[in-house]
Amino acid sequence: MSARLVCPLCATVVVDGADDITPGACPSCGARYEGGEGDAPGAVAAALRGFGASDLDARAVIDAAFRLTPTQSVDRGVAVTSDARDAYYRWWLFVRAPAGGDHRAVIASLIT
Ligand SMILES: [Zn+2]
Repeated sequence: MSARLVCPLCATVVVDGADDITPGACPSCGARYEGGEGDAPGAVAAALRGFGASDLDARAVIDAAFRLTPTQSVDRGVAVTSDARDAYYRWWLFVRAPAGGDHRAVIASLIT
């Protein structure tokens, strides 16, 4: 098994050649990533729990995140991406908050 995950917000390779990927943070831009499910809706729902934002509407967050262009994702600090593995992949929600910031607020700003 060789899993690889690239930060969609700064293009840094976050994980390469790992057996598995667990939630963490990008070593370059500091964005946190949560999720890791096999489908995007499940991954975003898991990510919202991880970010303490499970009160937000997962479907609305997915729709908003998928509508962002790559440039808009960088500007907003939110992106949905998939990792790369031998024969399948898992989805992750990356969120970059200001220093000491509130990841939930960054996500909520997409849908309010
Ligand atoms: Zn990054």
